Amino acid sequence: MQWDAVILGLGGIGSSVLAETATRGLRVLGVDRFDPPHAMGSSHGGSRVIRLAYFEHEGYVPLLREAFESFDRLSRDSGVSLIHRTGLLQGGIEGNEISRGTLASAQRHGLRVESLTGRDASRRFPAFDLPDAWELVYEHDAGFVRPEETIRAQLRRARAAGATIRTNTEVIDFEDDGRKVRVRFADGSVVEAGALVVAGGAWAPKLLAQYASMRAFNLTPTRQVILWIGRSDGTDGLAAFGTSAMPVWLFEDGEGGAPYGIPAFAEMGSPSGLKVGVHQHGGDAVDPASMNREVSSRDASAILARVARRVRAAREATVVSTATCLYTESHDGHFVIDALDPLAPNVLVATACNGHAFKFVPVLGKVLAEGIQDRSSLLSGPTAFLRKTGVV
Ligand SMILES: Cc1cc2nc3c(=O)[nH]c(=O)nc-3n(C[C@H](O)[C@H](O)[C@H](O)COP(=O)(O)OP(=O)(O)OC[C@H]3O[C@@H](n4cnc5c(N)ncnc54)[C@H](O)[C@@H]3O)c2cc1C
Repeated sequence: MQWDAVILGLGGIGSSVLAETATRGLRVLGVDRFDPPHAMGSSHGGSRVIRLAYFEHEGYVPLLREAFESFDRLSRDSGVSLIHRTGLLQGGIEGNEISRGTLASAQRHGLRVESLTGRDASRRFPAFDLPDAWELVYEHDAGFVRPEETIRAQLRRARAAGATIRTNTEVIDFEDDGRKVRVRFADGSVVEAGALVVAGGAWAPKLLAQYASMRAFNLTPTRQVILWIGRSDGTDGLAAFGTSAMPVWLFEDGEGGAPYGIPAFAEMGSPSGLKVGVHQHGGDAVDPASMNREVSSRDASAILARVARRVRAAREATVVSTATCLYTESHDGHFVIDALDPLAPNVLVATACNGHAFKFVPVLGKVLAEGIQDRSSLLSGPTAFLRKTGVV
């Protein structure tokens, strides 16, 4: 059988592309080297921040409006609550980039956000202990989405629309002769398709390394550590942090990167309490196949110490669970959503999550499905999609 498209990788982005293509009536095959959702890539840990005012670039805002609507629609259709609007408090030291960029984006798009000093924020959210002069922005409707549940819902939607899914199946390589793509699996079998979408997350850089067009983006997988912190006596960690009243937060504290925290509810499949990490670009390159997936006590105490300076209850908290995860970084922090190469026009690439792509997955699924149906929407060169939407 010849497929209209093969989707390589069924994580956050690939599962969305599979659902979008299948519901458009395309004959699609989705493959993944593991059995998604899983904890080996970039889409696990129970939660991902979603926000509308975007400090990375104001051009993302129209995509984000669509993303919020899409998550609401997917929640209704799947019967699973995929988005939690907890509010978001972000910013930090005087002149910090997060507040500056967030306010610029809010102003440009007429978004409702509030500017707060550290003093205001600590009064309003007593869980925090922030320096009085900090400059922060509060976005009421922001919050978090649930990555594993989103992937499950997208895969159910894809299957219901007729997609074929092969898990525990690794793509070894592919070849585009200009008319069709031949995709080869680890067991030696080969399939042919009109298009291939490479949504391989942190494995994509190695798979695409031979293409000069991709080398220009300097795609680099980096190791990230996340912790769940709670109370050592085992009582409800959530209550200890006041997280029912605590927004998601991200603080540029002047120490490199930005510590963040997301309330963790027991029904999300993790310990209840607070999930914390440090959002930081420019880490050392790792290979997802051999990366150290153990979290050392040194890793954990460095994060906990920074969190404890800003969150009162973290001073008495213990680390109750840990995980590692992967960012795939590019030279400029923006995603790569594009045709691979003039020599491989039927191969589309969705990579370089840069630690901020999950909130966009329903939109990226649509953009790539459109790209499969009408290559001209993607074929005008590197970063064409982002240029078209005004992001770069
Ligand atoms: C700690 C952490 C925090 C983050 N926080 C946020 C946040 O708050 N908000 C936000 O929007 N984003 C956030 N992100 C980023 C977001 O989670 C990622 O952008 C997103 O999950 C990437 O999805 P993906 O589909 O590219 O990768 P993945 O979900 O990892 O999917 C890639 C899939 O490809 C499969 N695969 C790879 N190679 C092959 C092959 N050769 N053959 C077959 N299958 C293959 C893998 O098994 C995997 O399932 C965060 C990321 C991390 C790590």
